[in-house]
Amino acid sequence: MNFTLFASEPVAGYLFVAAIGAVVGSFLSMLVYRLPIILKRQWERDCREALALPATEAAETFNIAWPASHCPQCRAPLKIRDNIPLFGYLLLRGRCRHCQAPIPRQYILIEALTTVAALVSIAHFGPDLRGALAFLLTAALIALAFIDMREQILPDAITLPFLWLGLLVNRAGLYASLDSAVVGAAGAYLFLWLVFHVFRLITGKEGMGHGDFKLFALGGAWLGWPLLPLVLLFASLTGALYGGTLIITGRQARTTPMPFGPFLCAAIWLALFYGWPLTTFYLRSAHG
Ligand SMILES: [Zn+2]
Repeated sequence: MNFTLFASEPVAGYLFVAAIGAVVGSFLSMLVYRLPIILKRQWERDCREALALPATEAAETFNIAWPASHCPQCRAPLKIRDNIPLFGYLLLRGRCRHCQAPIPRQYILIEALTTVAALVSIAHFGPDLRGALAFLLTAALIALAFIDMREQILPDAITLPFLWLGLLVNRAGLYASLDSAVVGAAGAYLFLWLVFHVFRLITGKEGMGHGDFKLFALGGAWLGWPLLPLVLLFASLTGALYGGTLIITGRQARTTPMPFGPFLCAAIWLALFYGWPLTTFYLRSAHG
């Protein structure tokens, strides 16, 4: 991050940050679409191997970088100008140039959200390492939230690296002390692990996925343990409110499982940015 640019030309500085946010957002919208497909193919291959079944015909190469961006409907490759973050979607008015199929709103939503996240991170923490890493974590949380919403999975490929990164970042005490981060990461995992097994013992049902434990541990690594009750409280409240609304309005059956990950992601983000002010405010009002 360029300090001198921000000191002399704040407008240029924020435009630069917005451009980085839009490019990262464009990458995220691709990741949200492709990563679950890559993982499912991998699991299928692993299962066939374990069951000693013949491998299916080698499917066409499909990874993060290949094939190039294309329309999911007609598979026509995108032109470079259609691929510009934010503007590409607006330029095409949300439709494929070839088959006129609507481009899912999710793409522009993720790009816009990530652009705003970059600006908010730098405005809140400053144009330094804390601001840049806060944005990096926010980007990971956006990807996790959208993947969990669509596919009900929280890929280890994102949760685990960011869990370890949180511990490293807090070696320098950027967001919490190292001690608090270690206790937070381990404590968060063990707490949900315990809740999961007690719940299963009593009800015979599985209330959440193992991905939720790892995501909560990631939160502990970045935030330190004292903010974890706030994260759990906020995630549970918003999750219950959202689920309740869906059931009352009849848009979802009571038995349909609802992903908890998006609410955890939002709560971790809120705690990173506003956790301490919120806690102080609460304690002050509680003690009169
Ligand atoms: Zn098309």
